[in-house]
Amino acid sequence: MPQYPNIPSVTPRPRRAIDPVRLRERMVRELASKGIHDAAVLQALRTVPRHLFVPEALRSQAYEDTALPIGQGQTISQPYTVALMTSMLEVQAGMRVLEIGTGSGYQAAVLDAMRCRVFSIERLPELFENTRRVLQAMGIRSVHLMRGDGTMGMSAAAPFDRIIVTAGGPEVPAPLVAQLDNNGIMLIPVGEKKRTQRLLRIRKDNGRVFQEDLGNAVFVDLVGNHGW
Ligand code: SAH
Repeated sequence: MPQYPNIPSVTPRPRRAIDPVRLRERMVRELASKGIHDAAVLQALRTVPRHLFVPEALRSQAYEDTALPIGQGQTISQPYTVALMTSMLEVQAGMRVLEIGTGSGYQAAVLDAMRCRVFSIERLPELFENTRRVLQAMGIRSVHLMRGDGTMGMSAAAPFDRIIVTAGGPEVPAPLVAQLDNNGIMLIPVGEKKRTQRLLRIRKDNGRVFQEDLGNAVFVDLVGNHGW
């Protein structure tokens, strides 16, 4: 083999492998410093491998507190938003939770980690199929996925203790209110303008419906019968 004395031999430095456990721990510390104190939610975020829910090319950013594109013009929500919404949903183990807007499946997996019985609806076939594969590969079989217009809810599995809508529409879909159980809670971003909404918390108390405004929110569009 010829020798090239002037060229130092360079061993390529191995690309630093992602250590998801450490990165998640750092993410959880960041979320706590931003005001998330719900221990059960933080524990769930510590266990769900968010890097497996984002496109491979974006994996190195999976534990930064930002939303990321997941294809089809859709996004996986920012971890802070997932943490905040999950804590405001006040879930307990065993509750039946309906999610509208499966997207990457991350929010569904977080609720599953909190031992909820999760039902999730996605309207886009490509995302639906992809997420089904991802959840299957991870061995998550308890999340019930459906493809369709989530603004119509999932009457076959109703009523639900909790409903979480992760896309923003112009109104609160009547079928979702109807499918919310007594004492149930629904979180939904609603706004007249696309991509700027107010996050509403709807509570059902003995058939009466109460609405609370939790502040500004920015979600992708809820598209459907009772959406845009
Ligand atoms: N919860 C998701 C966030 C996905 S973004 C996550 O953790 O990744 C919102 C998703 O809602 C998109 O995938 C979009 O296609 C879907 N969506 C919009 N309108 C919908 C509707 N009417 N029914 C079901 N899904 C809908």
